[in-house]
Amino acid sequence: MIEEILLYNKKFVADKEYEPYVTDKYPSKKLAVLTCMDTRLTELLPKALGLRNGDAKIIKNAGGLVLSETDSAIRSLLVAIYELGVEEVMVVHHSTCGACHMSYGDFRPHMLERGVAEETLAEWETKGVEQWLEGFHDTEASVRNTVSAIVTHPLVPKDVVVRGFIIDSVTGALSEVK
Ligand code: ZN
Repeated sequence: MIEEILLYNKKFVADKEYEPYVTDKYPSKKLAVLTCMDTRLTELLPKALGLRNGDAKIIKNAGGLVLSETDSAIRSLLVAIYELGVEEVMVVHHSTCGACHMSYGDFRPHMLERGVAEETLAEWETKGVEQWLEGFHDTEASVRNTVSAIVTHPLVPKDVVVRGFIIDSVTGALSEVK
């Protein structure tokens, strides 16, 4: 697949198909969106939000979560806020998210099968891998927790607006989580 992509890319550049997308690094809507890496959202989310190239910083991970104070999502948000002028943040989780019901118990046999040693797993279990790979179970609660993790983060300025939403993975409809 990567080889096909590389061929496509040569043609894309040669045909100057990039021209409609030329912009600078500053998000013109002063917006950041923290959302899930789900492939159903790849095109749907920006289209449903009316976002075009250059409009917003879109930060993605499995679930659209903030897991700790030093989480990479927080780091990205700090860059977006302090370096790139972001003033508003949308946390957007989605219906039927794969990260909702995941569990370390499901990963474990696959990891063993794919060559990860039992002793490595035992070591990671002492490091809290079970909680780390645990799903969030309740989407609304997860949106609230994520919004709260951003709003209460000591390095996030208080004037940044942070709001939480769930997007329908099929229709793109947004519902705000209060
Ligand atoms: Zn998801």
